[in-house]
Amino acid sequence: MRVLMIAPPGAGKGTQGALIAKHFSIPHIASGDILRDHVARDTDIGRAAAGYLDRGELVPDGLLYDALRRVMAAHGHYVLDGMPRTVEQARELRRLASEAGPEAGPDAHVVLHLRADDEEVTRRLLARGAHSRRSDDTEPVIRERLHRYHRMTAPVTAWYKLRGILLSVDAMRPAHLVGREIIAALEALHPAPKLAVD
Ligand code: AMP
Repeated sequence: MRVLMIAPPGAGKGTQGALIAKHFSIPHIASGDILRDHVARDTDIGRAAAGYLDRGELVPDGLLYDALRRVMAAHGHYVLDGMPRTVEQARELRRLASEAGPEAGPDAHVVLHLRADDEEVTRRLLARGAHSRRSDDTEPVIRERLHRYHRMTAPVTAWYKLRGILLSVDAMRPAHLVGREIIAALEALHPAPKLAVD
């Protein structure tokens, strides 16, 4: 099963992505983690991406597409968290999947959309920022990330809705309740190979 996740920052992509990955025994791949890892290792990609991450801007597509191509070639199943963030990226995902041929499967079976309002996610991100070393969990950068989410990422959901694969979930509730709803919905669509309900 291939799952994409679209959500504003702070809505719980990381938490729910990890839960889905564990339940269905599939890899959890987060574009933000890939980029932060490059920054930490001071690679060419990391040096090119660092400023964008610090400012809460989207990195140029070229920095991600190579990593994305490798992920899609290596994994038949995945939860992709943080990608696509633009209609362009959504098109690229589909293009890469069709390039790989029908036996490789579609770009996504389900696109999970976590809904949470700006006030709630800002509160969560500021709380996370107080305990983490992420450079982008500060008030001005959070505002910028939310602005970009509404302008560039949220519209992508309409595209997947038209394709009939959008699963939209209210993420304003405690994480375990959101997780339970997501797993139940995904199980109904694609039962996990084993009956391991945590
Ligand atoms: P996240 O960990 O998903 O909150 O992402 C952290 C930061 O990584 C974002 O604010 C962007 O700067 C960058 N980023 C992550 N995913 C993408 C993407 N699909 N396209 C462009 N930039 C991204």
